[in-house]
Amino acid sequence: MEPLIVVISGPSGVGKSTVAGMVLEKALRLVRSVSLTTRKPRQGDVDGEDYHFVSPEEFVARRDAGGLLEWAEVHGNLYGTEAVQVDRQLSGGMSVLLEIDVQGGRSVKKARPGAILIFLLPPSDEILEERLRGRATDDEGVILKRLENARRELESAEYYDYTVVNNDLDGCVSEVLGIIGAESDKRGAEDPELPQ
Ligand code: 5GP
Repeated sequence: MEPLIVVISGPSGVGKSTVAGMVLEKALRLVRSVSLTTRKPRQGDVDGEDYHFVSPEEFVARRDAGGLLEWAEVHGNLYGTEAVQVDRQLSGGMSVLLEIDVQGGRSVKKARPGAILIFLLPPSDEILEERLRGRATDDEGVILKRLENARRELESAEYYDYTVVNNDLDGCVSEVLGIIGAESDKRGAEDPELPQ
């Protein structure tokens, strides 16, 4: 039975990492894909856990060698998912969660049509802007770039299989777990051991 590729996307500030982290804690046979990025590590980022931090040259070399399942430029940096990492998990019977941007989500769907694409929506535009401004790590230029990008990302929700509003965190996490469980059942895949 085939395990699943699950993509979670949504605008910056919607709470993707928090939701993904909680989903990963609860679904035992689901692991997170660790992306390659040319972005510099932020405070608290752990190489090999949050991302594999690489130079632009190394990224381009791996991409041009055909090693990436998908890649995209986001906020001026390159991000990508290594196919071999995902396939290793899948063949070990683990479902894989990709927390990636919408360009990447669409590429994954093209390459692996069985992937499930989940888009997280903010409760409102105002709340999203508040959350983006509340991030102490970024300067105004970065925030404006993220806001513009967020608006563009929201338009891509229509390409996703599911949209989930992140209004209340626990509710959002349960909904995502419900989607993964239902899709696993539908395909007769081994259920990623979701809690009842
Ligand atoms: P951050 O640098 O804030 O961690 O992530 C910036 C954006 O890049 C987020 O929207 C995140 O989902 C996206 N991202 C992270 N890894 C990947 C990846 O491997 N591929 C793609 N396409 N986007 C990614």
